Amino acid sequence: MRTLAKLKPEKGIWMDDKPVPEVGYNDVLIRIRKTAICGTDIHIYNWDEWSQKTVPLGMTTGHEFVGEIVEMGEGVRGFSKGDRVSGEGHLVCGYCRNCRAGRRHLCRNTIGVGVNRQGAFAEYLCIPAVNAFPIPDDISDDLASIFDPYGNAVHTALSFDMVGEDVLVTGAGPIGIMGAAIARHVGARHVVITDVNDYRLGLAEKIGVTRAVNVMKESLDDVMNELGMVEGFDVGLEMSGNGAAFEQMLEKMNHGGKVALLGIPSADTTIDWNQVIFKGLVIKGIYGREMFETWYKMATMLQSGLAIEPVITHHFPVDDYAKAFEVMASGQSGKVILDWQ
Ligand code: NAD
Ligand code: ZN
Repeated sequence: MRTLAKLKPEKGIWMDDKPVPEVGYNDVLIRIRKTAICGTDIHIYNWDEWSQKTVPLGMTTGHEFVGEIVEMGEGVRGFSKGDRVSGEGHLVCGYCRNCRAGRRHLCRNTIGVGVNRQGAFAEYLCIPAVNAFPIPDDISDDLASIFDPYGNAVHTALSFDMVGEDVLVTGAGPIGIMGAAIARHVGARHVVITDVNDYRLGLAEKIGVTRAVNVMKESLDDVMNELGMVEGFDVGLEMSGNGAAFEQMLEKMNHGGKVALLGIPSADTTIDWNQVIFKGLVIKGIYGREMFETWYKMATMLQSGLAIEPVITHHFPVDDYAKAFEVMASGQSGKVILDWQ
């Protein structure tokens, strides 16, 4: 089968021919229809320090996908051939304390599809059936293919009550934009999103934020004054991984504010702890998606009118993968989808 793999220790990704994976007792084999490119795939493409340490050469990358089940192991229950599924790319151990307590997103032995084991940029993907998630008929293949990052946004945004609250989202990447859309959907009052990239702020405007702010050109204080926000933001979603954005968020939070932290800052990022302590801020780190509570919310929020379609900006047939990676790396895109069929 055709796969996109990291074949050489240099920038790039290559088409590779691999055998179709063998289906284990508890596994499903999925014929891939569409995949989406994640920031992680771009790190691996660029062969940065993290990828060099983490990803073995030969690895088929990718973990954002939709496809249909074509084969199942004997132990699989609850699925049938032909079921349309996306899936959780974090394979957990099942025996650590958190796994045993049903908090599988906190497993300390997580293995990542397309990072530590063969991934979804392939004609077929084999994963444990427990990781597959059935996609309701009224949800499109396009949306199903981005369930993984959409799930990051859902996990982050549903961490704190946002009904009637003023919400600041830092970073209008795909996940920040979807987080802002969820804040709007669940009934926040003002949803303000920041970035330094006008293309992406334009996408955020399409999903209906109160204000999309380029912090290089406009002061957040002015925007808050204009909106009549005298005290500060109630809930913050940090979706940039940028230290300056996180610092700015802490400054603009009201006392008692709640901050959910998804963006991954560089190791040397420092913050003003006085902001956290004297304001009594609550900060929660977010990793992945809750298995599988987040997944159910993902499906049902789309069915209850949440609109995230504008975050998908590009489609390419898989043969044009080089172009697709280029567009994704340029910053002038939302989600970029590869068609495998
Ligand atoms: P992205 O890199 O596409 O988006 C980040 C955005 O932040 C970019 O548009 C960038 O221009 C913007 N930004 C840069 N400096 C800024 C500033 N000073 N103020 C405001 N915005 C600024 O990333 P994404 O795919 O949307 O993911 C968001 C973040 O979440 C990334 O840091 C990613 O690594 C991280 N992530 C974490 C998890 C997890 O499980 N914790 C999972 C997926 C992604
Ligand atoms: Zn575990």
